[in-house]
Formats: sequence, structure tokens, C-alpha cells
Amino acid sequence: MTTTRTNVAVIGTGTMGSAIMWRLSERGVPAVGLEQFTPGHDRGSGHGESRIFRTAYHEDPAYVPMLRAALRGWRELGEQTGEPVLTMTGGLSIGPSTGVIVGGSLEAAKVHALTQEILDPAEFSARFPTQRLREGDTAIWEKDAGVIRPELAITGAVRRACELGASVRPESRVLGIEDGPGDTVLVRLDEEVIRADRVVVAAGAWIPGLLPEAQLPLTVERKILAWFPAEDPTQFGPDRFPIFLRDSPEGTWYGFPTMDGKTVKIALHLGGRETDPDELDRVVHDEDTAPLRDLVRHYLPGLSSRPVRAAVCMYTNTPDGHFVIGNPPAYRNVTVVSACSGHGFKFAPVIGEIAADLSCGSTPEFSLELFDVNRFAD
Ligand SMILES: Cc1cc2nc3c(=O)[nH]c(=O)nc-3n(C[C@H](O)[C@H](O)[C@H](O)COP(=O)(O)OP(=O)(O)OC[C@H]3O[C@@H](n4cnc5c(N)ncnc54)[C@H](O)[C@@H]3O)c2cc1C
Repeated sequence: MTTTRTNVAVIGTGTMGSAIMWRLSERGVPAVGLEQFTPGHDRGSGHGESRIFRTAYHEDPAYVPMLRAALRGWRELGEQTGEPVLTMTGGLSIGPSTGVIVGGSLEAAKVHALTQEILDPAEFSARFPTQRLREGDTAIWEKDAGVIRPELAITGAVRRACELGASVRPESRVLGIEDGPGDTVLVRLDEEVIRADRVVVAAGAWIPGLLPEAQLPLTVERKILAWFPAEDPTQFGPDRFPIFLRDSPEGTWYGFPTMDGKTVKIALHLGGRETDPDELDRVVHDEDTAPLRDLVRHYLPGLSSRPVRAAVCMYTNTPDGHFVIGNPPAYRNVTVVSACSGHGFKFAPVIGEIAADLSCGSTPEFSLELFDVNRFAD
């Protein structure tokens, strides 16, 4: 067993880990990233070609200042990597005016004076003929929304971090974390121990297994994404068909403009089997896509209801839907970042900054009260 010494080890170079490495390296702290697969892989929570960015945040208006910082961060990452990581499209929130999505989005926009338009049904149908409204639905359009390309974002952030001195160890599964001599932390791999001053755990769905003593009540949920062919793809381009979230009797669901010039991806936000990340059923069955096919038939004229592709992904959920960011008391010099519950991707650049602050002993710019690691302890 060999022992290696490092300053900061980041466990997981997926969505959050890649951004944390990038933000650490920008401030002259080149971390070692440990990844069980390869950065940009499709076995965690950060794949599937598209992620929604939006600002009028129905989940809680408290997220809005972080979203403004995240938007600046995505633009910086795009400039630094030369990759089109973010495409602004504007966004639609559609549903009953008293529902979580529309009501929450209106509230966030009011609190933070965001640009938003409430569209009457005639105006909506004229502007968005490939979305069908339900009787009684309210539709809101917001300006600061768009599409992030997850694989480009993750591989771009890792590449940028490495240009600034960080390093990544692919195919390196961390088996355990424990206190080391002095104030250090020991990170155990198969045939090696890494002795680090600080560790950031950004292991997504695998966090509960890595930090059992933190006793975080996280559950992992299997999610399905499916791509439906457009009859006329020009009607579904980023200039005509913005990202959307809909609150329908069938559930909360969302979709994207075409990113490949042929198909439109949609998915259900709520619902899915609880799973173990190492035993996830990665095969998409007919019954998995049935609810999505129905949604296309009812609400998206101009798409074929036979998907040509589908994929499986995982949400890591907290009981209240907010993230977990902080230093769990049961572990010394360890920061944990579980920013999922199905909505964390858009925050990666700002969460990267926050985790870099926490691991460098600085105070983050944003309050972490909503994300307190101890809030579930009873
Ligand atoms: C279907 C789907 C749609 C989504 N849509 C949106 C959206 O539109 N907008 C949005 O903002 N968010 C969205 N999300 C949520 C967002 O994608 C997640 O919040 C985010 O990807 C979580 O990032 P993460 O870093 O925690 O996990 P991941 O990106 O999965 O990264 C964890 C990494 O840790 C590695 N790892 C785990 N254990 C170990 C170990 N022991 N040793 C070494 N490496 C390890 C994994 O291999 C992985 O690379 C969606 C999620 C899903 C699944």
C-alpha cells in the first residue's frame, strides 16, 4: 500500500467536483480529483446533453442571488474553455397559477425584480405553437433561462482546472475516508492511501456510502430521459422553443429545444424508483417511457410520440429538496457537497466557489442556512 500526500482531494469529478476543482485551481489551490469512472461519463447525475438554467426560482427566492452568480460563472467557463456550455433561450413556466411552479416563479420574480411576462392564451399560442396549453393554465416567460450542456461543462471545468495545475485520477474509486495523523484525512483507494489536508466529497449518489457517519437522509431515485423526433426541427430550435417546466395533472415535467437538430428531450421531474447507485437498472423499458409518450401526445404538437433514444440518470434527494453543503461534524476537515434533488446542475460554478471557500477556510459570499448539513439531525 503506497501513501501519497496532497493538499486538497476532491472525491468525484462529476458536476460539482469538476467545478470545485476549477474554482480551487483559480485561487492557486491545485486539487487532486479522484473519479471512479472518467470525467464526462454517463453513470451518475450529470449526463444527457442538456440541463435547464433558470432564474425565477420557484423552489425558493433565496436561490436567486446564487443563480445570478452561477450565470456569470457559466459565462466565464464558456470564455475560458471556448466551449458553448450555455445557450440562453428564455424559459416558460406553465401550470395553474396557484401551483408550485407558476406561483413560486412569480414570487421569486417579485422579490428579486426579475424580467417576466404573463402570456394570455392567444398570445402564448401565437408565440409558441408547438406547446398546447390546458384550460386554466397560466404561462409565464422569463428572460434569464437557457440550456447548459452537461458533458461539455464537466469536461471543460476539469480541463481548465488541470491547465491551472490540478490533476485527475480516473478509474480511481475511493473506498473510505478516515482521520489521519495530525490534522490530515486519509482517503483509501484500492492499493493506495492519499493523505490530504482537506477533502471535498462531491460523490453524488454515492455520498451516503462514503460518509455513513454523517447520517444524511439522502435517497437515490432512478430517472428517465427520452428524445422525441420533431416533424419540423426548425420549430423546436433554441430561438423558437425555449426551455420549459410544466405542472400538469400527469406530473411536473420539463423539456428543451432541440440540441441535435432532430429531437426534443423531455423528462418527468417527480417520481421514479428508489435505487442503489451500484445496482441501478440502466435499461430503459417500454413502461418507463409510456408517461412521456402521453405527455408528448397531449401537449407537444409537432413531435412524434415514439422516442428514438432514452437514458437513465439519478437524482440524489434530500427530504426538503434543498442541497447539503458544509462540513459534517462527524468528519474532520471534510466538506460535503450534495447539490442535487434534481435541480443542482445550474449552480455548479457558484457551488464550486462556495466549496472552495469552505475548504480554504474562507467565509462564502452566500448564506448556507438552507443547505445546513445538520438540519436533519434530531
Ligand atoms: C435526469 C436528470 C435531469 C436533471 N435536470 C436538471 C436540470 O435541468 N437543471 C439542473 O440544474 N439540474 C438538473 N439535474 C440535477 C443535476 O444534474 C444534479 O444536481 C447534478 O448533476 C449533481 O451533481 P453531483 O456532482 O452531485 O453528481 P455527479 O455529477 O453524478 O458526480 C458525482 C461523481 O462522483 C463520482 N464518484 C462517486 N463515488 C465515488 C467514489 N467512491 N470514488 C470516486 N468517484 C466517485 C461519480 O462517478 C461521479 O462522477 C438533473 C438530474 C438528472 C438525473
